[in-house]
Amino acid sequence: MARAAVLGRLTWRPAELVSVRAETSAARTLVFDVPEWPGHVAGQHVDLRLTAEDGYTAQRSYSLASAAGGRVELTVQRVDGGEVSGYLADVMAPGDRCEVRGPVGGYFTWDPEDPSPVLLVAGGSGLVPLMSMVRTRAEAGSRVPFRLIYSVRTPADVLFADELRRRVREDKGLDIEYAFTRAAPGGARRPPGRIDAALLGAAGWPAEFAPTCYVCGPTGFVEAVADLLVGAGHAAERVRTERFG
Ligand SMILES: Cc1cc2nc3c(=O)[nH]c(=O)nc-3n(C[C@H](O)[C@H](O)[C@H](O)COP(=O)(O)OP(=O)(O)OC[C@H]3O[C@@H](n4cnc5c(N)ncnc54)[C@H](O)[C@@H]3O)c2cc1C
Repeated sequence: MARAAVLGRLTWRPAELVSVRAETSAARTLVFDVPEWPGHVAGQHVDLRLTAEDGYTAQRSYSLASAAGGRVELTVQRVDGGEVSGYLADVMAPGDRCEVRGPVGGYFTWDPEDPSPVLLVAGGSGLVPLMSMVRTRAEAGSRVPFRLIYSVRTPADVLFADELRRRVREDKGLDIEYAFTRAAPGGARRPPGRIDAALLGAAGWPAEFAPTCYVCGPTGFVEAVADLLVGAGHAAERVRTERFG
């Protein structure tokens, strides 16, 4: 049984794009129909494979954005000059097909049964698997305290902006702090800048609360934030990281 489940995750499955939602000028959410998709837990990703008419293939990893158990929804942000992200963010149309393999990942995951407070730290599109955790928490009716610190270039680059505004009002126990790196909105409390120890101290949890910390984004971002958290006294094994490359 376990072997069958592992083999299932390693198998490429046909996927058909059924709808798309624009998130920002550079990102959109793609909803796929994947027959016999086994479901996922929050934080997992899929491998996605595209095959051109001449047989050329390209494969990349994308996090599952939807709540655990839901359908395959990926939110892809265009990387300038990128081979696959440009196609997914701009070109692929409903009815088009690709293949997915997964769900992949067992470490960078959140279980709604875990009572520990949670600190989520996202850089850019690194928000996507953390959004799955936020959505899973809401669907499970969990009141586990969640704090999200989201580093993003400008207000126009915020993914899921309307949903985040709504959730912070409606999802009790969820706090969100934005760290704009290039341009902050008028009236912002902080000038544009990177996440630093002072911000993590003010908007995160004290190490004594023993939160589980999830850090996701570009490699340099993840390493800098993980170092800051460990430097602030968080146990290294409670700081879980996912690098987007
Ligand atoms: C586990 C995992 C989950 C991921 N989840 C998501 C997700 O949910 N949403 C999402 O948009 N992306 C996600 N990514 C990143 C994604 O896999 C691709 O790396 C990204 O879409 C770029 O692919 P590309 O083919 O367009 O760029 P490539 O053609 O591979 O690269 C073009 C150039 O961009 C640089 N580059 C590659 N990736 C990045 C990046 N992420 N940031 C900055 N520069 C980069 C390369 O070094 C290269 O110079 C995830 C990556 C991993 C490992």
